Amino acid sequence: MFDKILIANRGEIALRVLRACRELGIQTVAVHSTADADAMHVKLADESVCIGPPAAKDSYLNIASIVAACEITGAEAVHPGYGFLSENAKFADILTEHKIKFIGPSAANIRTMGDKIEAKRTAKALGIPVVPGSEGGVSELSEAKKVGKSIGYPVIIKATAGGGGRGMKVANNESELELAVSTAQSEAKAAFGNGEVYIEKYLQKPRHIEVQVLGDGQGRAIHLGERDCSLQRRHQKVWEEAHSPALNSAQRDSIGNRVAKAMADLNYEGVGTIEFLYEDGEFYFIEMNTRLQVEHPVTEMITGLDLVQEQIRIASGSSLQYKQSDITFSGHAIECRINAENAATFTPSPGRVDAVHFPGGLGVRIDSALYSGYRIPPYYDSLIGKLIVFGKTRTECMMRLKRSLSEFVIEGVETTIPLFQRLLNEPDIIDGNYDIHWLEKFLARTAK
Ligand code: ADP
Repeated sequence: MFDKILIANRGEIALRVLRACRELGIQTVAVHSTADADAMHVKLADESVCIGPPAAKDSYLNIASIVAACEITGAEAVHPGYGFLSENAKFADILTEHKIKFIGPSAANIRTMGDKIEAKRTAKALGIPVVPGSEGGVSELSEAKKVGKSIGYPVIIKATAGGGGRGMKVANNESELELAVSTAQSEAKAAFGNGEVYIEKYLQKPRHIEVQVLGDGQGRAIHLGERDCSLQRRHQKVWEEAHSPALNSAQRDSIGNRVAKAMADLNYEGVGTIEFLYEDGEFYFIEMNTRLQVEHPVTEMITGLDLVQEQIRIASGSSLQYKQSDITFSGHAIECRINAENAATFTPSPGRVDAVHFPGGLGVRIDSALYSGYRIPPYYDSLIGKLIVFGKTRTECMMRLKRSLSEFVIEGVETTIPLFQRLLNEPDIIDGNYDIHWLEKFLARTAK
């Protein structure tokens, strides 16, 4: 096992990793930008190193500074969290060259899955069903038209290097194709430095269902069930739950076992998530995330596993300590992503947090780095906390969520808590009856 781990992240996920390390008896090193000198992850870590100015590209994305911080502190491994460098194969390679362990899969697996066309090809070859679409990248309008004709409209144009819901455009018919392709290409170029796009059938009423996997890089892998992340705004998840209200246990086992076998064949190491759209009883692979997800706690709540500790154990060379038959699911969990944003307009609301009171009680978990007097910097993602609630049944979970939200106090900045309070009164949400377009439609319908 490692003696010291550097956490190359900030906010709630840096705390999440720190907690796992501490329970394993591992020393922690926090890194931070000058804007985060007073952040909670810095206060709680055993050591901390300032790695640059506020802009992420100069600090949390600054590979040279992070490697230097490892060398100064003698950290043997790096946990990248999510976002920032967590899916950066070059970072994984550079750490390996410096004999520092990257806590995650091999650079080769990150590369394959980071290229969405390559990822789809790999998934298909491993027997995972994919969304119908172009075989590879599409650069010419004539090619795009051919694909549109063969799969039928509407289609969605997506960036090969995409992430975070950016660079996606829908074309409802051939006449909309030209503008959709050129807009997606220029957005992709601006956001990812790579303008390549591909085309997929645009599914009209799917759910987003993803399967959590855990592999040991030694040919063994298991699945930890699925999460339903269909409640999205601008292709970004807002609320996640496990299990999906749409699946029964036979469907869960069937897709889970297929995915676990594929990951074993890939020799996949660590945690990973295979994302699907699910419509009319069929699964369609859209992408794989080769890292810990924001929504991993709902899986932890229903399996009792600590996914970060599993990542660390496997990275230190242990083989998988569970067989598939050891994994049991119990109850239901829901996560609400709480952002420092206006709950109606979603305008960011950074600034000083005057007071915080977190809900508590049985089955309530808060993953957050907030404290009273903390100043939320304007430079980073607006996620300030996650409320995760467990119940024996989905109904109990929803009641507990309602109760928890009513106790939650964050003063000084605006938050998205009121949005969740509104959602809990909606019959479709109560019944678990929603697809990936539900939230956008609800927001449009109820906008003043
Ligand atoms: P990103 O990596 O940017 O998150 P994804 O490929 O994971 O992109 O897609 C994000 C979301 O976009 C999905 O959860 C879904 O809501 C929507 N989406 C992606 N592909 C399709 C598709 N073929 N049809 C309909 N919606 C899609």
